[in-house]
Amino acid sequence: MKKSIIILLVSLIALAACKKEKWTERRIDPVDFLSGDKYKNLVIQVVFERGYSLNSQTNTNLITFLNSRLNKPSGIQIVAKEVDPSGKAYISSADLIEIERKYRTEFSKGSTLTAFVFVSGSQYAENSGDHKILGVQYGETGVALFGKTVDDYSGGLNQPSTVTLQTAIAEHEFGHLLGLVNSGTKMREYHEDGTHIHHCNNENCLMYHAVETSDIIRNLLNDRVPELDNNCIKDLQYNGGK
Ligand SMILES: [Zn+2]
Ligand SMILES: [Zn+2]
Repeated sequence: MKKSIIILLVSLIALAACKKEKWTERRIDPVDFLSGDKYKNLVIQVVFERGYSLNSQTNTNLITFLNSRLNKPSGIQIVAKEVDPSGKAYISSADLIEIERKYRTEFSKGSTLTAFVFVSGSQYAENSGDHKILGVQYGETGVALFGKTVDDYSGGLNQPSTVTLQTAIAEHEFGHLLGLVNSGTKMREYHEDGTHIHHCNNENCLMYHAVETSDIIRNLLNDRVPELDNNCIKDLQYNGGK
């Protein structure tokens, strides 16, 4: 017991000495997600505020998507945990960092890679007017989905289903963790949007900038999740992916 407290203290001190944006005990690059050389399996910890769990079909879709692009021979798994709502109307990127510090319990070790997904009942503080942000990627292994905003824009008349919208955002944000576009995974051919950095210039691609905002709704009325285009797939394949 005492020994573990000492170890905990030592690691807390070590963590405090690290740069603030460091999330995991190791540095994780997009290639670590894509290739199976270093990490053989991926564990995604999903922490959701009560009332905002991801649909089980969304989880299945996300795992299928990742299995189609990532070399993880020992599998990809989601572990979910419910937490109390923060009660805040808006949360900032600084809040997301605090939340991750509070709730994340899965860290990469051995041949296991981990990622953290937070589903919030709050709106993102950077929303302006009718332009709502549905999801963000931050750090090397973190993703947030704004569950309340997703619910507002899905499941109703002339709206995509909640599963479709959740899936599109989750896959898009993981696309950023995989280094798309031009963000840790090199472009084979130039296809970065000139106005929206780290996004694809193909408006039908999963990595088009509108996919993570409320602007995507009109493109999802056929209720189909956008797929990666050839340029994005090629980038992943040249950085260790499938
Ligand atoms: Zn994006
Ligand atoms: Zn693309």
